[in-house]
Amino acid sequence: MIPAPFEYRRAGSVDEAVRLLAEHGDDARLLAGGHSLLPALRLRQAAPAVLVDVGRLSELAYVRDLGDHLAVGALTRHCDLERSAAVAADAPLVAHAAGLVGDPQVRNRGTLGGSLAHADPAADLAVAVLALGATLVARGPAGEREIAAADFFVDRHRSALAGDEMLTEVRLPKAAGVPWSYQRVSRRAQDWATVAVAAVGAAGGSAPVVVALAGMGPVPLRASAVEQALAAGEPVSGAAAGADHGTAPPSDVLAGAGYRRHLARVLVRRALESLAEPPNLGSTAT
Ligand SMILES: Cc1cc2nc3c(=O)[nH]c(=O)nc-3n(C[C@H](O)[C@H](O)[C@H](O)COP(=O)(O)OP(=O)(O)OC[C@H]3O[C@@H](n4cnc5c(N)ncnc54)[C@H](O)[C@@H]3O)c2cc1C
Repeated sequence: MIPAPFEYRRAGSVDEAVRLLAEHGDDARLLAGGHSLLPALRLRQAAPAVLVDVGRLSELAYVRDLGDHLAVGALTRHCDLERSAAVAADAPLVAHAAGLVGDPQVRNRGTLGGSLAHADPAADLAVAVLALGATLVARGPAGEREIAAADFFVDRHRSALAGDEMLTEVRLPKAAGVPWSYQRVSRRAQDWATVAVAAVGAAGGSAPVVVALAGMGPVPLRASAVEQALAAGEPVSGAAAGADHGTAPPSDVLAGAGYRRHLARVLVRRALESLAEPPNLGSTAT
Protein backbone atom coordinates (compact mmCIF):
# COMPACT_ATOMS: atom_id res chain seq x y z
CA MET A 1 0.00 0.00 0.00
CA ILE A 2 0.97 3.63 -0.34
CA PRO A 3 1.46 5.71 2.84
CA ALA A 4 -0.90 8.57 3.63
CA PRO A 5 0.60 11.95 2.64
CA PHE A 6 3.04 13.47 5.14
CA GLU A 7 5.40 16.41 5.42
CA TYR A 8 9.06 15.36 5.46
CA ARG A 9 11.49 17.28 7.69
CA ARG A 10 15.14 16.38 8.11
CA ALA A 11 16.52 17.35 11.53
CA GLY A 12 20.07 18.72 11.52
CA SER A 13 20.57 18.18 15.25
CA VAL A 14 18.98 16.53 18.26
CA ASP A 15 17.77 19.95 19.43
CA GLU A 16 16.04 20.55 16.11
CA ALA A 17 14.42 17.11 16.23
CA VAL A 18 13.07 17.78 19.73
CA ARG A 19 11.87 21.23 18.67
CA LEU A 20 10.00 19.75 15.70
CA LEU A 21 8.41 17.10 17.92
CA ALA A 22 7.30 19.76 20.40
CA GLU A 23 5.96 21.94 17.56
CA HIS A 24 3.88 19.22 15.91
CA GLY A 25 2.87 17.16 18.95
CA ASP A 26 1.14 13.86 18.25
CA ASP A 27 1.12 14.62 14.52
CA ALA A 28 4.89 14.04 14.27
CA ARG A 29 6.98 10.87 14.34
CA LEU A 30 10.74 10.39 14.27
CA LEU A 31 12.19 8.37 11.42
CA ALA A 32 15.46 6.55 12.23
CA GLY A 33 16.28 3.37 10.28
CA GLY A 34 12.71 3.15 9.01
CA HIS A 35 12.56 -0.63 9.33
CA SER A 36 9.55 -0.60 11.61
CA LEU A 37 8.00 2.76 10.79
CA LEU A 38 8.01 2.51 6.99
CA PRO A 39 6.11 -0.82 6.94
CA ALA A 40 3.62 0.70 9.42
CA LEU A 41 3.16 3.73 7.13
CA ARG A 42 2.62 1.54 4.12
CA LEU A 43 0.02 -0.52 5.96
CA ARG A 44 -1.51 2.74 7.24
CA GLN A 45 -1.13 1.51 10.81
CA ALA A 46 0.59 4.87 11.31
CA ALA A 47 -0.27 8.08 9.48
CA PRO A 48 1.74 10.95 11.00
CA ALA A 49 1.31 14.35 9.37
CA VAL A 50 5.03 15.09 9.81
CA LEU A 51 8.01 12.73 9.59
CA VAL A 52 11.13 14.05 11.32
CA ASP A 53 14.10 12.25 9.80
CA VAL A 54 16.90 11.78 12.36
CA GLY A 55 18.61 9.00 10.42
CA ARG A 56 21.60 11.16 9.48
CA LEU A 57 22.39 12.48 12.96
CA SER A 58 25.82 10.86 13.17
CA GLU A 59 26.34 12.56 16.56
CA LEU A 60 24.09 9.85 18.00
CA ALA A 61 25.92 6.88 16.45
CA TYR A 62 28.63 5.87 18.92
CA VAL A 63 29.79 3.36 21.51
CA ARG A 64 31.79 4.98 24.33
CA ASP A 65 33.53 3.35 27.26
CA LEU A 66 32.65 5.43 30.32
CA GLY A 67 34.22 3.32 33.04
CA ASP A 68 31.46 1.31 34.66
CA HIS A 69 29.17 1.38 31.61
CA LEU A 70 29.10 1.65 27.84
CA ALA A 71 27.22 4.64 26.47
CA VAL A 72 25.60 3.74 23.15
CA GLY A 73 24.04 6.42 20.95
CA ALA A 74 20.43 5.81 19.97
CA LEU A 75 21.27 5.90 16.26
CA THR A 76 23.86 3.14 16.52
CA ARG A 77 22.85 0.54 13.97
CA HIS A 78 22.32 -3.12 14.78
CA CYS A 79 25.28 -4.08 12.54
CA ASP A 80 27.59 -1.72 14.49
CA LEU A 81 26.49 -3.22 17.81
CA GLU A 82 27.12 -6.66 16.38
CA ARG A 83 30.66 -5.73 15.26
CA SER A 84 31.75 -3.44 18.11
CA ALA A 85 34.74 -4.82 20.04
CA ALA A 86 33.68 -2.84 23.13
CA VAL A 87 30.14 -4.25 23.07
CA ALA A 88 31.48 -7.77 22.47
CA ALA A 89 33.77 -7.42 25.49
CA ASP A 90 31.52 -5.60 27.97
CA ALA A 91 27.95 -6.34 26.87
CA PRO A 92 28.25 -9.54 24.79
CA LEU A 93 24.55 -10.31 25.22
CA VAL A 94 23.73 -7.14 23.27
CA ALA A 95 26.21 -7.91 20.49
CA HIS A 96 24.76 -11.40 20.19
CA ALA A 97 21.13 -10.21 20.20
CA ALA A 98 21.91 -7.53 17.59
CA GLY A 99 23.33 -10.21 15.32
CA LEU A 100 20.03 -12.11 15.41
CA VAL A 101 17.83 -9.21 14.30
CA GLY A 102 16.24 -9.85 10.90
CA ASP A 103 18.70 -10.07 8.05
CA PRO A 104 21.77 -8.03 7.01
CA GLN A 105 19.65 -5.38 5.28
CA VAL A 106 17.63 -4.83 8.46
CA ARG A 107 20.75 -4.76 10.62
CA ASN A 108 22.43 -2.28 8.30
CA ARG A 109 19.59 0.25 8.67
CA GLY A 110 17.80 -0.48 11.97
CA THR A 111 18.96 1.43 15.04
CA LEU A 112 19.10 0.58 18.72
CA GLY A 113 16.96 3.60 19.59
CA GLY A 114 14.38 2.77 16.93
CA SER A 115 14.09 -0.81 18.11
CA LEU A 116 13.61 0.22 21.76
CA ALA A 117 11.26 3.13 21.02
CA HIS A 118 9.15 0.85 18.82
CA ALA A 119 8.56 -1.21 21.99
CA ASP A 120 7.83 -4.48 20.25
CA PRO A 121 7.44 -7.11 22.99
CA ALA A 122 9.29 -9.63 20.79
CA ALA A 123 12.29 -7.39 19.99
CA ASP A 124 15.68 -8.94 20.64
CA LEU A 125 17.42 -5.78 21.81
CA ALA A 126 14.57 -4.81 24.14
CA VAL A 127 14.78 -8.03 26.13
CA ALA A 128 18.59 -7.84 26.16
CA VAL A 129 18.70 -4.31 27.63
CA LEU A 130 16.01 -5.30 30.16
CA ALA A 131 18.08 -8.28 31.34
CA LEU A 132 21.19 -6.11 31.65
CA GLY A 133 19.41 -3.41 33.66
CA ALA A 134 20.29 -0.68 31.16
CA THR A 135 19.41 2.97 31.62
CA LEU A 136 17.84 4.87 28.72
CA VAL A 137 18.32 8.58 28.22
CA ALA A 138 15.56 10.74 26.71
CA ARG A 139 15.85 14.35 25.58
CA GLY A 140 12.83 16.65 25.50
CA PRO A 141 12.15 20.39 25.58
CA ALA A 142 12.82 20.43 29.36
CA GLY A 143 16.17 18.67 29.01
CA GLU A 144 17.39 15.13 29.64
CA ARG A 145 16.01 12.42 31.87
CA GLU A 146 17.02 8.85 32.62
CA ILE A 147 14.56 5.95 32.42
CA ALA A 148 15.36 2.47 33.74
CA ALA A 149 14.83 -0.22 31.11
CA ALA A 150 12.37 -1.84 33.56
CA ASP A 151 10.18 1.28 33.38
CA PHE A 152 10.61 2.02 29.69
CA PHE A 153 8.27 -0.53 28.08
CA VAL A 154 4.72 0.48 28.98
CA ASP A 155 2.53 -1.51 26.59
CA ARG A 156 2.67 -3.13 23.19
CA HIS A 157 4.32 -0.52 20.93
CA ARG A 158 4.15 2.08 23.70
CA SER A 159 7.17 3.32 25.62
CA ALA A 160 7.60 5.76 28.51
CA LEU A 161 8.77 8.45 26.06
CA ALA A 162 6.55 11.52 25.89
CA GLY A 163 5.45 12.65 22.42
CA ASP A 164 8.06 15.43 22.42
CA GLU A 165 10.95 13.27 23.67
CA MET A 166 13.67 11.53 21.70
CA LEU A 167 15.65 8.57 22.96
CA THR A 168 19.28 9.66 22.69
CA GLU A 169 21.44 7.14 24.54
CA VAL A 170 21.41 3.71 26.13
CA ARG A 171 23.74 3.04 29.07
CA LEU A 172 24.77 -0.58 29.34
CA PRO A 173 26.29 -1.63 32.68
CA LYS A 174 29.55 -3.46 31.97
CA ALA A 175 29.14 -7.20 32.26
CA ALA A 176 32.52 -8.55 31.11
CA GLY A 177 32.97 -12.08 32.43
CA VAL A 178 29.38 -12.31 33.74
CA PRO A 179 27.72 -15.47 32.43
CA TRP A 180 24.85 -14.86 30.01
CA SER A 181 22.65 -16.83 27.68
CA TYR A 182 20.21 -15.94 24.93
CA GLN A 183 17.73 -18.56 23.77
CA ARG A 184 15.29 -17.87 20.99
CA VAL A 185 12.72 -19.74 18.91
CA SER A 186 11.44 -18.32 15.66
CA ARG A 187 9.30 -19.99 13.02
CA ARG A 188 11.52 -19.08 10.11
CA ALA A 189 15.13 -18.01 9.69
CA GLN A 190 15.44 -14.20 9.97
CA ASP A 191 12.03 -13.92 11.64
CA TRP A 192 11.12 -12.21 14.92
CA ALA A 193 11.32 -14.39 18.00
CA THR A 194 8.17 -16.27 18.94
CA VAL A 195 9.66 -16.40 22.43
CA ALA A 196 13.16 -15.43 23.55
CA VAL A 197 14.92 -15.60 26.90
CA ALA A 198 17.85 -13.47 28.06
CA ALA A 199 19.54 -14.62 31.26
CA VAL A 200 22.47 -12.95 33.03
CA GLY A 201 24.42 -13.99 36.12
CA ALA A 202 25.57 -17.11 37.88
CA ALA A 203 23.68 -19.16 40.48
CA GLY A 204 25.41 -18.52 43.78
CA GLY A 205 27.23 -15.51 42.30
CA SER A 206 27.54 -12.12 43.98
CA ALA A 207 24.58 -10.72 42.03
CA PRO A 208 21.25 -12.55 41.58
CA VAL A 209 20.48 -14.19 38.24
CA VAL A 210 18.25 -12.05 36.03
CA VAL A 211 15.91 -13.70 33.52
CA ALA A 212 13.91 -11.72 30.96
CA LEU A 213 11.33 -12.91 28.43
CA ALA A 214 10.31 -11.65 24.98
CA GLY A 215 7.02 -12.58 23.34
CA MET A 216 5.30 -13.46 26.63
CA GLY A 217 3.10 -10.39 27.09
CA PRO A 218 2.54 -6.85 25.85
CA VAL A 219 6.04 -5.83 26.97
CA PRO A 220 9.34 -7.63 27.54
CA LEU A 221 9.09 -9.06 31.07
CA ARG A 222 11.30 -10.16 33.94
CA ALA A 223 10.60 -13.81 34.87
CA SER A 224 10.24 -12.90 38.55
CA ALA A 225 9.05 -16.33 39.68
CA VAL A 226 12.18 -17.91 38.20
CA GLU A 227 14.46 -15.30 39.73
CA GLN A 228 12.89 -15.74 43.16
CA ALA A 229 13.07 -19.54 42.97
CA LEU A 230 16.76 -19.41 42.07
CA ALA A 231 17.46 -16.93 44.88
CA ALA A 232 15.74 -19.35 47.26
CA GLY A 233 18.12 -22.11 46.13
CA GLU A 234 15.69 -24.10 43.96
CA PRO A 235 17.32 -26.28 41.30
CA VAL A 236 17.16 -25.15 37.67
CA SER A 237 14.41 -27.57 36.64
CA GLY A 238 12.10 -26.41 39.43
CA ALA A 239 12.82 -22.73 38.84
CA ALA A 240 12.30 -23.02 35.08
CA ALA A 241 8.91 -24.67 35.61
CA GLY A 242 7.61 -21.29 36.78
CA ALA A 243 8.87 -19.39 33.73
CA ASP A 244 5.39 -18.50 32.52
CA HIS A 245 4.02 -17.43 35.91
CA GLY A 246 2.76 -13.87 35.79
CA THR A 247 2.95 -13.69 31.99
CA ALA A 248 0.15 -13.03 29.49
CA PRO A 249 1.35 -14.46 26.19
CA PRO A 250 -0.72 -13.69 23.10
CA SER A 251 -2.19 -16.18 20.66
CA ASP A 252 -1.41 -14.98 17.16
CA VAL A 253 -0.30 -16.21 13.74
CA LEU A 254 3.07 -17.28 15.15
CA ALA A 255 1.88 -19.39 18.09
CA GLY A 256 -0.87 -20.04 20.60
CA ALA A 257 -0.52 -18.83 24.17
CA GLY A 258 -0.16 -22.40 25.46
CA TYR A 259 2.73 -23.15 23.13
CA ARG A 260 4.42 -19.89 24.14
CA ARG A 261 4.16 -20.90 27.80
CA HIS A 262 5.76 -24.24 26.95
CA LEU A 263 8.53 -22.48 25.02
CA ALA A 264 9.21 -20.14 27.94
CA ARG A 265 9.70 -23.06 30.34
CA VAL A 266 11.96 -24.95 27.93
CA LEU A 267 14.03 -21.93 26.91
CA VAL A 268 14.47 -20.71 30.49
CA ARG A 269 15.71 -24.15 31.50
CA ARG A 270 18.16 -24.16 28.60
CA ALA A 271 19.32 -20.66 29.44
CA LEU A 272 19.90 -21.49 33.11
CA GLU A 273 21.75 -24.69 32.22
CA SER A 274 23.86 -22.74 29.78
CA LEU A 275 24.77 -20.16 32.46
CA ALA A 276 26.39 -22.97 34.41
CA GLU A 277 28.44 -24.14 31.43
CA PRO A 278 30.83 -21.47 30.12
CA PRO A 279 31.32 -20.23 27.51
CA ASN A 280 27.75 -18.98 27.84
CA LEU A 281 26.97 -18.27 24.23
CA GLY A 282 23.30 -17.95 23.39
CA SER A 283 21.94 -20.17 20.70
CA THR A 284 19.01 -19.92 18.37
CA ALA A 285 16.66 -22.84 18.48
CA THR A 286 14.22 -23.37 15.66
C1 LIG B 1 12.14 -7.85 7.67
C2 LIG B 1 12.35 -7.37 9.10
C3 LIG B 1 12.77 -8.29 10.05
C4 LIG B 1 12.98 -7.87 11.35
N1 LIG B 1 13.36 -8.80 12.27
C5 LIG B 1 13.55 -8.42 13.55
C6 LIG B 1 13.99 -9.37 14.52
O1 LIG B 1 14.22 -10.54 14.25
N2 LIG B 1 14.16 -8.93 15.80
C7 LIG B 1 13.95 -7.62 16.15
O2 LIG B 1 14.13 -7.28 17.31
N3 LIG B 1 13.55 -6.70 15.24
C8 LIG B 1 13.35 -7.07 13.96
N4 LIG B 1 12.97 -6.13 13.03
C9 LIG B 1 12.77 -4.73 13.47
C10 LIG B 1 14.07 -3.94 13.30
O3 LIG B 1 14.92 -4.25 14.40
C11 LIG B 1 13.83 -2.42 13.27
O4 LIG B 1 14.95 -1.84 12.69
C12 LIG B 1 13.66 -1.73 14.58
O5 LIG B 1 12.56 -2.32 15.27
C13 LIG B 1 13.34 -0.27 14.42
O6 LIG B 1 14.49 0.47 14.28
P1 LIG B 1 14.56 1.63 13.20
O7 LIG B 1 15.81 2.40 13.46
O8 LIG B 1 14.39 1.06 11.86
O9 LIG B 1 13.32 2.54 13.64
P2 LIG B 1 12.16 3.29 12.78
O10 LIG B 1 11.42 2.28 11.96
O11 LIG B 1 12.75 4.46 12.08
O12 LIG B 1 11.27 3.79 13.98
C14 LIG B 1 10.54 2.88 14.77
C15 LIG B 1 9.72 3.68 15.80
O13 LIG B 1 10.60 4.25 16.78
C16 LIG B 1 10.50 5.68 16.77
N5 LIG B 1 11.89 6.15 16.94
C17 LIG B 1 12.95 5.83 16.18
N6 LIG B 1 14.07 6.33 16.72
C18 LIG B 1 13.69 6.99 17.84
C19 LIG B 1 14.41 7.72 18.85
N7 LIG B 1 15.75 7.85 18.82
N8 LIG B 1 13.70 8.27 19.87
C20 LIG B 1 12.36 8.12 19.93
N9 LIG B 1 11.64 7.45 19.02
C21 LIG B 1 12.30 6.88 17.99
C22 LIG B 1 9.89 6.04 15.44
O14 LIG B 1 9.18 7.27 15.51
C23 LIG B 1 8.96 4.86 15.22
O15 LIG B 1 7.77 5.03 15.96
C24 LIG B 1 12.77 -6.50 11.72
C25 LIG B 1 12.36 -5.58 10.74
C26 LIG B 1 12.15 -6.01 9.44
C27 LIG B 1 11.74 -4.99 8.42
